[in-house]
Amino acid sequence: MADTKYIFVTGGVVSSLGKGIVSASLGKLLQARGYKVTIQKFDPYINVDPGTLNPYEHGECYVTIDGHEADLDLGHYERFLNVPTTRANNITTGRIYQTVIEKERKGDYLGKTVQVIPHITDEIKRNMKLLSKNKFDFIITEIGGTVGDIESLPFIESVRQLKWELGKNCLCVHLTYIPYIAAAKEYKTKPTQHSVKQLQELGIQPDILVLRTEHLLSPDLLKKVALFCNVENNAVVQSVDVPTIYEVPLVLQRQGMDVTVLKKMGMDTDTTPNMTKWNEFLKMKSDATETVKIGLVGKYVELQDAYKSIDESLLQAAIYNNRKLDLHLIHSEKVTEANVEELLADMDGVLVAPGFGQRGIDGKLIAIKYAREHDKPCFGVCLGMQCMVIEFARNVLGLEGANSTEMEQTAPYKVIDLMEDQKNIINMGGSMRLGAYDCVLQKDSKAYKAYKKEHIQERHRHRFEFNSDFREQFEAAGMKCVGENPDSGLVEVIEIPELKWFIGTQYHPEYNSTVLNPNPLFVSFVKAAIENK
Ligand code: GLN
Repeated sequence: MADTKYIFVTGGVVSSLGKGIVSASLGKLLQARGYKVTIQKFDPYINVDPGTLNPYEHGECYVTIDGHEADLDLGHYERFLNVPTTRANNITTGRIYQTVIEKERKGDYLGKTVQVIPHITDEIKRNMKLLSKNKFDFIITEIGGTVGDIESLPFIESVRQLKWELGKNCLCVHLTYIPYIAAAKEYKTKPTQHSVKQLQELGIQPDILVLRTEHLLSPDLLKKVALFCNVENNAVVQSVDVPTIYEVPLVLQRQGMDVTVLKKMGMDTDTTPNMTKWNEFLKMKSDATETVKIGLVGKYVELQDAYKSIDESLLQAAIYNNRKLDLHLIHSEKVTEANVEELLADMDGVLVAPGFGQRGIDGKLIAIKYAREHDKPCFGVCLGMQCMVIEFARNVLGLEGANSTEMEQTAPYKVIDLMEDQKNIINMGGSMRLGAYDCVLQKDSKAYKAYKKEHIQERHRHRFEFNSDFREQFEAAGMKCVGENPDSGLVEVIEIPELKWFIGTQYHPEYNSTVLNPNPLFVSFVKAAIENK
């Protein structure tokens, strides 16, 4: 194929409509026809990346293999497409301005006044086209925020310019919302009409509209939207709520959205999408009748998106074990010695979540102690693993007051300590140990049994590490360091072999679990939980 095709996805009316899922689903359908597809997200906020944002602001922070702290939508892109993303797939206003200002300071603009148009928009456009050098057939670009926001104007303007420059190789998909007014028993298209008008005022005529709705919309309503919004009848697609996000590609496919895209871009529509494996996954999901009960212990459990990748990894692992996932969210601040039995006794397995700072640590330690003493399958991820180490130090090794220096700099036993190369870092943003690193697993470990290989690569996001001064003491008492980085010797995986399944990872396996390639450690954990029933 000659030219890279660009699809831009904008959103209107309200936020949280699932632009990321629609982008990923469309990407999936094109990929299933044999095209090479990537998806990128442009976010209008000023932060250089979402790494410094807390989960209340922005849900989970996703990490790419090349160590970029990214928007959580990149997680959806990877879970759907099964292709890794990189730093180039996620750009913010902050990143754009940072580059332009650096260039200005170097004198690159040769005395010109530096302006939003053309300098900022040129930099946005350069980034929008950057991935084309990787020879993608399709680059789908999701524009964060809602059309009409002041912040997103330069991005929309860049899309307008690109639409002009790229002609047939460019297409705009606009996602809106159709509310249902219960009192009038009517669906309302007016907000969609207004949102499309707003986009038109900014110089963009959407080619395809995707209407988000809680209930199925009538063909007449879709026609009405087409008429009012200047799009063809078959270019209005509805995206009704479905039980799982993984069904969305099929919802779009049934309405021929992929065919409409190909036709509008002057491409061959004779190919048939190969969704066999995807459909097998969905069939396994709907066939599963028995459940597996997993308790997720964390301090952000009340936030829908804070542990997105963990939730999805557990769901995928459950499906590959032919089970429905029954996920119980357990607030770590609410776990006490008095109620831990009541909270965890019923769980088939317990996962202790990653995190930062002291809040909720005591509850995590109590949950881990309970799991260890009752031989309940237990999975510690990053801070969860560090808590496993602290709990073992205090309650098995008898090292009273053992702690991580993140929580207590003057702890008598610093079993988790700041990594050497973190000691002189002052900047918070992008300064952790980030991205994929090698790990070598010991052949006699449960972790090795799960991965079925010695050499793995998993993604990281942390500043603190297992303090190897204590390694011998831990191993003699039964907690083994079974995975380590071959270059630095950093401990990556700990486990207690005597227990059914008690494993902690310094890395985040949840960033590396997709629909067609579930993470082996999650699959193994859920399997152990089922066997523990
Ligand atoms: N706060 C811990 C560290 O920085 C763990 C980080 C995490 O759980 N992602 O090492």
